Amino acid sequence: MTSDGRTPERASLGTWPTPLEPAPRLARALGLGPDDLWIKRDDLTGLGGGGNKIRKLEWLCGAALADGATTLVTTGAPQSNHARLTAAAAARLSLRAVLVLAGTPGSSASSAPGNLALDGLFGARVVWAGSAGGDALVATAAQEAERLRGQGEVPALIPFGGSSVTGARGYAECGRELLTQAPDLTTVVVALGSGGTMAGLVGALGAGRVLGVHCGAVSDPAGSVSKLVSGLSDAHQAAPEALRLRLDQVGDGYGALTEPVMSALTLTARTEGIVLDPVYTGRAMAGLAAAAEDGDIRPGQRTVFLHTGGLPGLFGHQATLTRAQAALTWED
Ligand SMILES: *Cc1c(COP(=O)(O)O)cnc(C)c1O
Repeated sequence: MTSDGRTPERASLGTWPTPLEPAPRLARALGLGPDDLWIKRDDLTGLGGGGNKIRKLEWLCGAALADGATTLVTTGAPQSNHARLTAAAAARLSLRAVLVLAGTPGSSASSAPGNLALDGLFGARVVWAGSAGGDALVATAAQEAERLRGQGEVPALIPFGGSSVTGARGYAECGRELLTQAPDLTTVVVALGSGGTMAGLVGALGAGRVLGVHCGAVSDPAGSVSKLVSGLSDAHQAAPEALRLRLDQVGDGYGALTEPVMSALTLTARTEGIVLDPVYTGRAMAGLAAAAEDGDIRPGQRTVFLHTGGLPGLFGHQATLTRAQAALTWED
């Protein structure tokens, strides 16, 4: 929605439709039939290195442009893929970008490369909000917006992770796109961060066909997703308890590398030549492997893994890089 309640046009940012590719070697390694597992390549959405946030940003930027915005303001973790893609979208649309990130200047997280290096290339301005958590991020973003207004700019506040009802529309579209590519889809497996991606898919496909793997980014994953779904029009609805969620892959918390995630990264790379990231897609694949093991996902059913991107984050995650390089000496 725009600020005066109109339905905005979508800004054109990505490359559609994204491919749906078979993953027969990975399928076999997970105990599934060779034709059972497919990967929806939303890491190949194009702009800014790609990833799931592009589908949301098409709608969010459409609303921002309709409101006459001159600057996009958003929030996130230092290695936020969403912040990086907001910066890329701003560049493409001739807008400025201000990224309000958690952390303090000079800390190891605020000087890691990965997404932050790309934020710099895209010309974004980064404001460090300290490490006090989500409320401090929101408050700092509101202050920045006020300051920009004082300078004659028109700021548009893009929500955390791009997850508002407007942003989730992009994933309702993805769900419909996926149905034309795989009408016999039983389960799509997706990383659950801020929740908009899963919410859009549930809106289009119904709760029974979407398995969300919680990544530890929000405190109430089921409530976050359910609330976003209820705002979508022409959508399947889903109470929090109707959602299919796996909460068993969080480990030591958001961003912390776990052994199942390291195994999922290694297996996916060595069977399909596809790179996952340690924060989101690695957790989603570890959740898929666990679901194949406990029978929630079964041979003979069509399963789709939604690859939501995140490759730049791998280059900002030292623990994973160290493990990956150590594997150079690995022998069979
Ligand atoms: C943001 C993100 C997700 C999670 O999407 P949400 O809509 O925030 O739940 C998954 N994978 C990657 C790579 C992301 O950047």
